[in-house]
Amino acid sequence: MKLVDTHAHLEDLENLDAAIRRAEAEGIIAIITMGSDLESSLWALNESQRYETESLKIYPAIGIHPWSMATSNLSEDLKFIEENAHRAVAIGEIGLDYWYREVRKNPEKKEKQRELFRSLLKIAKENGKPVSIHSRGAWMDCVEITIEVGVQKAVFHWFTGPQDALKKLLDHGYCISATPAANYSKEHRAAIRNTPVENILLETDSPVSYRGEVAEPAHVLKSLSAVAELKGETKKKISEETTENARRIFGIQI
Ligand SMILES: [Zn+2]
Repeated sequence: MKLVDTHAHLEDLENLDAAIRRAEAEGIIAIITMGSDLESSLWALNESQRYETESLKIYPAIGIHPWSMATSNLSEDLKFIEENAHRAVAIGEIGLDYWYREVRKNPEKKEKQRELFRSLLKIAKENGKPVSIHSRGAWMDCVEITIEVGVQKAVFHWFTGPQDALKKLLDHGYCISATPAANYSKEHRAAIRNTPVENILLETDSPVSYRGEVAEPAHVLKSLSAVAELKGETKKKISEETTENARRIFGIQI
């Protein structure tokens, strides 16, 4: 099988060399590593490819995660992303998070998140790049703002939002990506069930923990088996289709 982990944070993995070897052994042929702030975006662009092997490619995405806003110098970081967007396969991880503690305490910060999200979407649009979106608690705003800015290709990563937001994003040809949580999360499972396979990608969001287990790119197999079960298809078929989707969305030559 040939699989792609379309959303990981490789710089945060403890023993990345070993994790890459295990991923390679499981048939993962590409990983897209996200930038969440300036430091991780620089790592994705300049360091991540040192971990590639002959059969596993690593592609950089650059972005500012809504959780990183407080510690970012936003105007400088935006300038960096603007200047380097052409070197990345995607702009991500970007988005909105209305459940984030800072926002729960100060709801006026939502507008600040939306401002930054719009700026990042505009950079993606101007550079013809896809985006990887974090939309927790802000699903409909994320979908509507992405449509409004006019981004062509968007992936709503680990999507757990309501039906109306899902329908709207699918109507615009956007995608969702499935994590290992697809094995147990009611909301994530419902979203996958209601999404055609041509709009589904696989990911791990490594090194996030799923029920106490720290994820690594090899665990894209867990995302695969959950999607196969939910769609009533073989793992082989789902692996072929989702890998083809990854090629199409991210424009990667694998
Ligand atoms: Zn992430």
